[in-house]
Amino acid sequence: MMSKEKVSSSISSSFIVNRTLENNPMCTCGSPASLRTSNTRRNLGRAFFGCSNYNMKGLPHCNFFKWADSGQEREQELVNFKIELLRKKDELQKTQEEFQKTREELRKLEEEVRKTMEEVRHGMEKVRKV
Ligand SMILES: [Zn+2]
Repeated sequence: MMSKEKVSSSISSSFIVNRTLENNPMCTCGSPASLRTSNTRRNLGRAFFGCSNYNMKGLPHCNFFKWADSGQEREQELVNFKIELLRKKDELQKTQEEFQKTREELRKLEEEVRKTMEEVRHGMEKVRKV
């Protein structure tokens, strides 16, 4: 059985993997960094980029290290998200204004209909009196 916590964490980690696989950063040694998960107690399961040659016996490796879920990309993402949110809010405001206008027009229309009905009623009363 999966707890709610587990479901959301598996979604977010697959999101990170999908995203980062498209744009793996380059190591300082020139090869693309590979995505791994941390096995230290403090950051257990946290995704990071490391040199793809790290832990490969006999191969030289660099000290490249970068958390997959932090740093500038993440910040940029957050900024983009905020901009999108503001844009949506603006759109919503416009839609609300539009709605308000339509409602006002509808109210005027209703008023006209009411007047016309009144006139028709008066006319009919006159006809009946004649
Ligand atoms: Zn490297």
